[in-house]
Amino acid sequence: MVLCQPDIRKSCGACCGLYNYVDSSRESLTRRLRARTKRFREMVKLPGDIDSYAEATFAAEDFRKRYEVIYCCEYLGFLDAGEKKVGCLVHPMQNDGIDMRTGSFYGQEVCAGHLCPSHYFIPRSQQLILLKIIDDWYLYGLCLTDIDLVVTYFRLIADRIGQELKPDVFDRQDLKEIVLEFFNWKTTWPFRSDEANRLGKYYFDGSQYMISHIDYEKFGRDISPLNPILLSLSSEFRNADELAAAEKMVWTNIEKFVSLYRSIF
Ligand code: SF4
Ligand code: SF4
Repeated sequence: MVLCQPDIRKSCGACCGLYNYVDSSRESLTRRLRARTKRFREMVKLPGDIDSYAEATFAAEDFRKRYEVIYCCEYLGFLDAGEKKVGCLVHPMQNDGIDMRTGSFYGQEVCAGHLCPSHYFIPRSQQLILLKIIDDWYLYGLCLTDIDLVVTYFRLIADRIGQELKPDVFDRQDLKEIVLEFFNWKTTWPFRSDEANRLGKYYFDGSQYMISHIDYEKFGRDISPLNPILLSLSSEFRNADELAAAEKMVWTNIEKFVSLYRSIF
């Protein structure tokens, strides 16, 4: 199953550099993608027009990156009038069958053939659950590409209910809302580090990106069983109380889900 453009309500553009701008807030990305889409529709009528489109886009936007090694592609825009789907403006499906990705940074072959690790490392049932519960391009791409966050959360639940969660479970709105509360923390987490060069568990040290860590020793604590989740949420704790409060939020969410699930199934 290809996860990039799963349905009409959302899509992902993470590997085209969507979240790699210094300002990768929803508001900023929405403005950026909206302006590009308009510019592209106005300026590009033939393949030869994409150079002037690219030039105008580089001139109009702030292209400073979080991680220098990840390219931020100027051809990522909105594919639909409702701005629900992010995607490739130079894809043949957007241009009456003409493939203009040949002129892109990665080139046609890489763009057409790339499948990110989430396709291989998130089990299919969990992929289907994400598709079922998230209908928001900004959140979808952030969660889908955070393998640790997804796999650890669903494993903790599976351990408690004694089986893997099935996607059908999320026909129930009440269960869906509990899981969405958790995934929404990807954007609303109160213990999120303010560092601009940080995305999930990675941070940029000026020359390369590294995996961050939480100094449990400083807080007189063993490593939390929630460590992968806390890192994925870009957590930064000033003291042991904050760490305990963060853990409590996650455990409460999991317990709420498990208790409701058990009362139903
Ligand atoms: S990050 Fe993965 S799911 Fe998202 S567009 Fe790229 S290949 Fe597709
Ligand atoms: S040209 Fe390639 S990298 Fe750029 S938006 Fe299209 S698919 Fe993504």
